[in-house]
Amino acid sequence: MDTITVVVPCYNEEETIPLFINEIEKVYSAMHEKYDIEMEYLFVDDGSKDKTLKVLEEAAQNNPRVSYITFSRNFGKEAAMYAGLENADADYTVIIDADLQDPPELIEEMYSILKNEEQYDCVASRRFTRTGEPPIRSWFAKMFYRIMAQISKTEIVDGARDFRMMSRRMVDAIMSLAECNRFSKGIFSWVGFETKWLEFENRERAGGQTKWSFWGLLIYAIDGVVAFSTAPLAISSIIGIIFCILSFVGVCFVFVRALLFGDKVAGWPSLACIMCFIAGIQLFCNGISGIYLSKTYTETKRRPQYITKKIHRAESAEKRTDSIQ
Ligand code: UDP
Ligand code: MG
Repeated sequence: MDTITVVVPCYNEEETIPLFINEIEKVYSAMHEKYDIEMEYLFVDDGSKDKTLKVLEEAAQNNPRVSYITFSRNFGKEAAMYAGLENADADYTVIIDADLQDPPELIEEMYSILKNEEQYDCVASRRFTRTGEPPIRSWFAKMFYRIMAQISKTEIVDGARDFRMMSRRMVDAIMSLAECNRFSKGIFSWVGFETKWLEFENRERAGGQTKWSFWGLLIYAIDGVVAFSTAPLAISSIIGIIFCILSFVGVCFVFVRALLFGDKVAGWPSLACIMCFIAGIQLFCNGISGIYLSKTYTETKRRPQYITKKIHRAESAEKRTDSIQ
């Protein structure tokens, strides 16, 4: 028998969790008829401020497949996914959003691919449209993937969702990466293994609201660049070298001109502009080094990714742990 754990990060999802459970139960029933499987839905309540925990507690009472972990505060989706993967001990692990933007019905196809096509350890999903998203957000997202493709060796697929099913060995590989500043889209790709991509059309949320603001996404994108590329550091050094060369050429020009035509005190406004510009470039490059330094700083503190407040495991998962002990 195969075990499947479905990890669901939730932050203020009181509206969508009941809808999600409804849908995933349909998927479970369909799969249970065809295959010898056991499924667990592991909800990770990322310090929600609404009634998410209550909804989960009730769901767990009525449904033996519902597990949940609650955090002591909001740690972010990355931490929620990490907690899910850390606790998932099944043969196959799925990560899926609670808002039904990721179609749960794909799980059956994912399972059958992993089961029948041995070369794959992961079946991931990407949306090929971004309809319903603000155009400016789509444009920045496109730019991000384009820049990442240029500056990072780790391939980050445009439109890739965190929604995927992974084999045990792939999950173990992901957990073996001990970094605190986690950027999962990069980590999934970095660990390697063959991934099959399923495509689907973008969907609107089933309820509630997105947790991502424009600035939140921008910072997330910077985290991604810093986690998977050191190119910005090299670029800042190159900018420095270019400016050194330019200033040397400038000095030669001024020197020769003074010899030939004498030195008239003129041109100070342009000089002031140039000084401001160069000071700006210097601050920018300092800032780049600063970001890497700050990441190193948080990394050395080795703080846990999340703090658990409460945990409840589904019957099947508890039986598994009992049998291991
Ligand atoms: N999420 C989370 N912690 C956060 C923010 C989001 O666990 O701090 C969860 C959220 O509940 C949802 C998933 O991550 O299940 C994706 O979030 P959202 O739908 O807001 O992002 P979008 O789909 O708009 O990119
Ligand atoms: Mg969403």
